[in-house]
Amino acid sequence: MNSSQWDYKPFWIEVISQINHEITEQEYVMWFKNMEYRSSADSEIIISVPSSFYKDQVTKRYLPFIENTLYDLSGHKIKITFNIQKRSKKKHTNNKEKPPAKTSLKYSTNLKKKNHPRFNAEYIFDKFVIGDNNSFAANASFAIAKNPGTAYNPCLIYGGVGLGKTHLIQAIGNEAYQDSPGQKIVYVTAETFTNEFILSIREKSSHKFKNKYRKVDILLIDDVHFLPGKVETQEELFHTFNALYDANKQMVFTCDRPVSELKTISDRLRSRFERGLNVDLQPPNYETRIAILKQKIENKNITIPDKIVELICKNVTTNVRDLEKALTRLIAYADLVNKEITLEIAQRQLKDLFSHPYHKKITLSLIQRIVADYFSLSSNELKGKKRTKAIAFPRQISMYISREITEYSTTEVGLDFGGRDHTTVMHAYQKIEDKIKTDPTLEPTIQHLIRTIKNFKV
Ligand code: ADP
Ligand code: MG
Repeated sequence: MNSSQWDYKPFWIEVISQINHEITEQEYVMWFKNMEYRSSADSEIIISVPSSFYKDQVTKRYLPFIENTLYDLSGHKIKITFNIQKRSKKKHTNNKEKPPAKTSLKYSTNLKKKNHPRFNAEYIFDKFVIGDNNSFAANASFAIAKNPGTAYNPCLIYGGVGLGKTHLIQAIGNEAYQDSPGQKIVYVTAETFTNEFILSIREKSSHKFKNKYRKVDILLIDDVHFLPGKVETQEELFHTFNALYDANKQMVFTCDRPVSELKTISDRLRSRFERGLNVDLQPPNYETRIAILKQKIENKNITIPDKIVELICKNVTTNVRDLEKALTRLIAYADLVNKEITLEIAQRQLKDLFSHPYHKKITLSLIQRIVADYFSLSSNELKGKKRTKAIAFPRQISMYISREITEYSTTEVGLDFGGRDHTTVMHAYQKIEDKIKTDPTLEPTIQHLIRTIKNFKV
């Protein structure tokens, strides 16, 4: 059958227009601007998408809607096939549309794509495993890479160590570079930015410095929590920010905590960071850890029995970097002794990575119990509704300590304190922090409580 007999393009156009009405502008820009109709076959429409990451996301989010709408329009079932194909580099040329490919579309693999020469080639979207903990950050990052300077500008990605901040921010650089290598994309850590700035003053070359950072299309600054309390560097970044923002140039920052919790940053720089989209990365859950570890194993072209993968993922709960550490250590050991890894060997070799007495022992209820005791209250009073000073203050201290010494998010802490909102926890944290500055007895009291909590034997 000649494939030109089938032409579902009008249906496709109608589907896209209906979807456009159903979803937000941002979502539409994020997912549908980068899709291209390719061809039709017998009860099938072939659409090209830019990467497997994209394909998975679109399939999960929109495929049922697309297929149902097609059914309503055509009266029969039409299958959608997403093929991965890099988009043509120049987005706005007037070239005549390419004739539909006669042969099947080539599956473009990562290996053929050219990453940014100065970025880590491993830090690409196709190697970033998506789970509930990171899907929003990953999707937003991908949208940014595809349409820099538009929907999410600036963007700040925050989360603890080893959760993928550097991976994502560099993936944005790599992906944007693949789409148009002509763009000027600069990645820098806040620390390097600071050092270069100081050097530029010393060498009287601030013009060169300004040129480097203010004449870019995409500026990626990693780890802004390392910005020192130095006023001058922050000033410089503030002005860089304004210049780029006014020119609609994309900026992405990463930080190890919400900006509101950055202590050394000036208010006006903080307000700039908070201006755009702020997204967080949480630690991956068990299923996501399994998916990540399996992907890493596959990338290394080795096999490791599922039982061992499960053992690692059950015990290494902190972050992805620790998962990688466990894997590297096992591989090194296996190479060294030239033996197959058994469950016992894995357990023995990874013992220290498995034990996280800190995170395991310290629960929110332990903190509540000890703080309540200290102030001669009950845990229930601490979690209850009363807002008298005698209760509200210890409650704020408990929340502060919870944030300081556990990995629980403000949402989780809020929930455990009688279902309060996460903003209440943030507010409490801020209050105590301010009070520490004016009340010299508070810090030692808190330190005493923290020691008591940490030394508590279960
Ligand atoms: P951070 O900058 O937040 O400290 P990184 O981006 O350096 O963390 O991530 C640590 C390691 O974990 C990197 O090797 C990265 O590739 C890997 N990693 C993090 N998140 C994921 C993920 N979702 N899928 C695959 N690898 C990940
Ligand atoms: Mg990092």
